[in-house]
Amino acid sequence: VWDNCLSFIEDNIQPQAYKTWFAPIKAVKLTDNALSIQVPSKFFYEWLEEHYVKLLKVALTKELGENAKLVYIIKMENTYGNQRPFTEKIPSSNRTHLQPQELDVPVKHKNPELKNPFVIPGIRNIKIESQLNPNYNFDNFLEGDSNRLARSAGLAVANKPGGTSFNPLLIFGGVGLGKTHLAHAIGVDIKDKYPEKTVLYISAEKFTQQFIESVKKNTRNDFIHFYQLIDVLIIDDVQFFSGKSGTQDVFFHIFNHLHQNGKQVILTSDKAPVDMQDIEQRLLSRFKWGLSAELQTPDYETRISILKNKLYRDGVDMPEEIIEYVAKNIKTNVRELEGAIISLIAQSSFNKREVTIDLATQIVEKFVKNTKREVSIDYIQKVVSDYFQMDVATLQSKTRKRHIVQARQLAMFFAKKFTKASLASIGSQIGKRDHATVLHACKTVDNLAETDKQFRKHLEDLSKKLSQ
Ligand code: ADP
Ligand code: MG
Repeated sequence: VWDNCLSFIEDNIQPQAYKTWFAPIKAVKLTDNALSIQVPSKFFYEWLEEHYVKLLKVALTKELGENAKLVYIIKMENTYGNQRPFTEKIPSSNRTHLQPQELDVPVKHKNPELKNPFVIPGIRNIKIESQLNPNYNFDNFLEGDSNRLARSAGLAVANKPGGTSFNPLLIFGGVGLGKTHLAHAIGVDIKDKYPEKTVLYISAEKFTQQFIESVKKNTRNDFIHFYQLIDVLIIDDVQFFSGKSGTQDVFFHIFNHLHQNGKQVILTSDKAPVDMQDIEQRLLSRFKWGLSAELQTPDYETRISILKNKLYRDGVDMPEEIIEYVAKNIKTNVRELEGAIISLIAQSSFNKREVTIDLATQIVEKFVKNTKREVSIDYIQKVVSDYFQMDVATLQSKTRKRHIVQARQLAMFFAKKFTKASLASIGSQIGKRDHATVLHACKTVDNLAETDKQFRKHLEDLSKKLSQ
């Protein structure tokens, strides 16, 4: 076991460091999953713990599994050239009388954190930046019928993080309805009330990237440990986990640990748990443990108050009828509502002209049009399969029939062109392919469009249909 560990370690550090710090170590004994190693001095042991504990942990876990333990035995040379174990209270007169079997005395740690060699010393002192945006708070998250449940659940959680039955709290709803804002607001409020609590906001996408990175660097356990130190974990847009089983797996472990220890988990998603696709059942069932609260599209009154609040905060006056006009015409998305009003303010100050209904009409029209133009991947698949007279399931199927493959590649190409989705996300939505397949599809479409006249015709027809 130790030889395997050594060769792994040797591959991962400088030869000189290896020679100095690992070559002198002797493996003494292996019981169950505990490996005892003998090191030449206390200083040596401390140095290992300080500089190589992660590496040792990874190496040992690879050999002995998650529960691997490491026991250090420290030996010191005495004046007689014999070896004796280091223990804390051996009267000096007894030292030379120690028998060999007594060598196996584990180090008594003064620092309790060192008891378990897999706790990275000092990590508890690392300050975790919460990544919260103070501009997203409860004060400027306006209440309305559409968000009352989610908002008050958020407040309840902020008052007693981990201490309500809303754990996890899952906030779900469509684009631009305030999920991210509310998630930050909860975190900001908790930080306010409980400054000593470790709060972390992270997008599911970033969490996934970090995880993949940790696998590459062989630091998966550190990644898990890090997340297990958090008191309030906020993960935004968990629908991003769909189809990513490795990430779901690691999140499942972290979630269980936090939940068992009374820590608060807050999640957001663009769908209700029942509608989530490609998320493992065991995770979905965890999501349902707490409360799922929906953010709905805001009603007219709420839209008005959001607009007024925005104007008030920016110190801008706007005729009542304009505000009403905007609120009447932009209904489904708070982000667009804000976007339209910001545009209006900008236009009027830019051109130094009064905000008129005319100007408002122009701007609102642009916003409404823009939203219509944003097509979904589902819609693209539907249009492409209709065009080729097949159903969506056929388009997504594993078949290699040429015309179906081409239809699928076109759908991928248009998804790349017309949506902001990542290659990976496009792939997972079009028949669970990976990002490389999508990339390949886009290249193939480009090539075929140049060389194949009929294919070019399909491409142009579809392009027209989709931009209507
Ligand atoms: P989502 O994460 O659901 O896509 P965001 O949280 O990014 O939506 O919200 C979009 C914009 O709308 C943000 O600027 C946010 O501040 C604003 N917003 C959403 N809901 C409200 C609300 N109830 N009161 C005030 N502003 C809101
Ligand atoms: Mg968001």
